[in-house]
Amino acid sequence: MILRTATCACGQVRAACRGEPSKVSLCHCLECQRRTGGPFGVAAFFPRAAVEVSGETREFRRPADSGFDVVFRFCPHCGATVWWEALRKADMIAVAAGAFADPDFPAPSQAVYGEHRHAWVPEDLV
Ligand SMILES: [Zn+2]
Ligand SMILES: [Zn+2]
Repeated sequence: MILRTATCACGQVRAACRGEPSKVSLCHCLECQRRTGGPFGVAAFFPRAAVEVSGETREFRRPADSGFDVVFRFCPHCGATVWWEALRKADMIAVAAGAFADPDFPAPSQAVYGEHRHAWVPEDLV
């Protein structure tokens, strides 16, 4: 079974993920824009049992539109967010797709919050 490891920019925080992601989702929302510093975020969702996390993290918690909180885990040394938990889907862990640094990582199958898409980002990205 394939094993992929996501890491923060300094390598201290790691999330080792077994198997293929259950879902890969691209998010144009303004919160993802601020969190990533990019025009959108890409989350790979894995069953919690398929992910082994390590390293020291700090958390940033915010309410999601679902009414449940989302808890982001970021590296206190380099600041990169590697993984997070949407408390609405407590059986899943979301991992930042870019943290795998793998151009062959599976593409997103959906895009959400299209109303916040930057004008230059192609509409048919997903
Ligand atoms: Zn780091
Ligand atoms: Zn978002």
